[in-house]
Amino acid sequence: MTKPTIDPRSTSLSTRAIHGNKLHAFKAPVAPPIVQTSTYRFENSQDAVRYAAGDPDVFVYTRYHNPTVREAEERLALMMGSERALLFSSGMAAISSAVLASARTGDEIISTPALYGGTYRFFRDILPDHGIQVNYADPARLDKLSGMISRRTKVVFIETPTNPTIGIVDIRAVAAAVRKGEKRTGARVTIMADNTFATILNQNPFRLGVDVIVESATKYLGGHADLMGGVVAGSAAFVREAHTRLKYYGGCADPFAAYLLVRSLKTFALRVQRQNENALALAKFLEHQRKVLRVLYPGLRTHPGHAVARRQMTGGFGGMLTIEVEGGAGGAVKVCDALQVAVNAMSLGGVETLVSIPVYSSHVNMSPAELSQHGVSPGMIRISAGIEGIEDLKRDFAQALGLLPSRRQRAG
Ligand SMILES: *Cc1c(COP(=O)(O)O)cnc(C)c1O
Repeated sequence: MTKPTIDPRSTSLSTRAIHGNKLHAFKAPVAPPIVQTSTYRFENSQDAVRYAAGDPDVFVYTRYHNPTVREAEERLALMMGSERALLFSSGMAAISSAVLASARTGDEIISTPALYGGTYRFFRDILPDHGIQVNYADPARLDKLSGMISRRTKVVFIETPTNPTIGIVDIRAVAAAVRKGEKRTGARVTIMADNTFATILNQNPFRLGVDVIVESATKYLGGHADLMGGVVAGSAAFVREAHTRLKYYGGCADPFAAYLLVRSLKTFALRVQRQNENALALAKFLEHQRKVLRVLYPGLRTHPGHAVARRQMTGGFGGMLTIEVEGGAGGAVKVCDALQVAVNAMSLGGVETLVSIPVYSSHVNMSPAELSQHGVSPGMIRISAGIEGIEDLKRDFAQALGLLPSRRQRAG
């Protein structure tokens, strides 16, 4: 084996995603084997002793560790630029384990209010059972955040861009406010960012002062709507704590999902670049469609978060956009049912363009007051741009929108 002279950490995101740490010649399959086993044979009982002494190279049981899962984790850590990363069975397993690794009974969490529905409900319905209180900070009034920090505050949790209005939270301003609050109170706060919508290609929260990245690998990292997974990336010390939760809450990744993820990561940069391009082109195209009342995309100058997005989304503005069409929820249904290329399905981040209607999905059963508080209107359609030919997508949306009755027809 030749000694590598190129430091993998110095290579581009694409190279890291494709090769991981393996920048040297050695004999092995190019694609990693799927180690589909629950347990491992010991050569002799000394292996059990070595494991008990903490030797990381003795495999014991797949809930604790697995070579295919570890392969994915090493690659994810390298991509995210963290000391370590952990792969979970889903984004929610990653988020719940990371939060419960940081906060105990009597502690408090501060979050921005626009969150993925699962995270929101975990905070609202589950954390109170653990005696953990969640308070919400207004992302438009981050000057108040540092004053909200107390010694009980253990986590500040943010998500940006947010669902479904594609709102932007100023990550650097959050980090500055938290550090100021820590100085004042002596609190020790873990700043956690859900980077699912942006991905590491478009936004690096670590460079903006975040301590831990959580992410649903089901979305852009997996990218083909065929696997479930979640990531926690951060310091070795934090990941050790999260790993204890992974072991005992049991949210371990399956080796086959890890294999699919490693395969997907090889095209991650290409896919997300194309999704960025398609989303921007589609946003600009839809802005000029008569029956589209609004287009929300951080890459548009009209977006209220555009200036902050330009500062913190250094790779691109992401693949997610939301439009509001004429005719309220009925109009949104007509458009979604008429699309032929774009797929009417929840979730996001895959190679196929997906559409969903927030009032029938993420924001179902909310009162008009709650909807307006979240900035959600009935005519909204959330679009996850895929990697199809952009002309096909434009044609598809144009024909689907053409089916809406014009304003004049409706009035008459
Ligand atoms: C999907 C999603 C999650 C949850 O991930 P799962 O893999 O479905 O558990 C968390 N955060 C965001 C922003 C998501 O889109």
